[in-house]
Amino acid sequence: MKNNILVTGGAGYIGSHAVKQLLETTKHNIIIVDNLSTGNLKTIKTLKLIRDFKFIKLDLKELDKVKSILKDNNIDTIMHFAAKIIVPESIKNPIDYYINNTVNTINLIKIAVDMKVKKIIFSSSAAVYGEPDKIPEDGIDENFQTNPINPYGMSKLMSENIIKDVATVNDDFKYVIFRYFNVAGADINYVGNNLTPRIGQSFPNATNLIKIASLCATKKIEKMDIFGDDYDTFDGTQIRDYIHVDDLADAHIKAIDYLNNNSSDIFNVGYSNGFSVKEAISSMKKVTKEDFKVNISSRRAGDPVNVVSNNTKIKNKMGWTPKYNDLDLICKSSYEWEKRYASKTI
Ligand code: UDP
Repeated sequence: MKNNILVTGGAGYIGSHAVKQLLETTKHNIIIVDNLSTGNLKTIKTLKLIRDFKFIKLDLKELDKVKSILKDNNIDTIMHFAAKIIVPESIKNPIDYYINNTVNTINLIKIAVDMKVKKIIFSSSAAVYGEPDKIPEDGIDENFQTNPINPYGMSKLMSENIIKDVATVNDDFKYVIFRYFNVAGADINYVGNNLTPRIGQSFPNATNLIKIASLCATKKIEKMDIFGDDYDTFDGTQIRDYIHVDDLADAHIKAIDYLNNNSSDIFNVGYSNGFSVKEAISSMKKVTKEDFKVNISSRRAGDPVNVVSNNTKIKNKMGWTPKYNDLDLICKSSYEWEKRYASKTI
């Protein structure tokens, strides 16, 4: 079945990787809307080299325009990536986060239901699980209690609940909610034997571990901090489940067909593998053969010790099979993107 898909935030990091895969592996019609606050036009131009699609610069607050776009393009599926995603910023400016993430989602859902859009794929986050005291040995599954500890996580959980409530009273409206674990890496694209990402994370104020380590490896910054090495883990640093952005994108492609034959559901997207902060930094140093300075600093407020997914559900129910479950490849692709392209994009 050929779908007409609206991708909100399609010029951003994760959205653009999903669009890349939609363009390369499906025949669906794609319409991107993005306000370009963190996404960028260079990404759109790069994606257009794969195959053409419509791009409309628009803020989701412009409700009448969103409505016209759904109508004019006969949209049947929405992938909703557009969001603010920096946790410390969400603590400083909670209103911004609730407006951008939750209010915009409510409005989008209302319009979608009014316009008889049948499917939504929503980007949520492992941040909805908050700061678990102790996680089960086989990772956090989707039934684990939700307890966000910052406005970012709360804005996502509120959006999840709204989507679920709306679907309960609208039989035709179906959703897949994805709870992303730690997304990293860049477009796996080989030119000959060389890994040459065409798109990646170009957001200038990114705070993610692997992005920061790739900035160090490319000498764009001089040094980085490890936020605490006195945690109760094997090497004292925190454990996360790093997932390559292309595998995450693939889950979104699978979700479109999944929703044609199945009911609404929530899925974790991670590899169920935990790596410490020190392991991630060592991997970056190893694959890039670059050394850089790393300070041990104090713990970052609100950082959970250990966040690792249980991904049994998405594997069993959606047939999702990760291709890039390899921390070295995640680091290498992030570095290659940083080295070759990121400086030229903005
Ligand atoms: N981290 C770090 N130094 C940095 C950035 C992150 O030590 O410059 C740690 C952070 O404390 C956490 C892990 O790396 O344990 C992943 O952090 P990130 O911000 O990438 O994602 P989060 O898990 O906080 O969403």
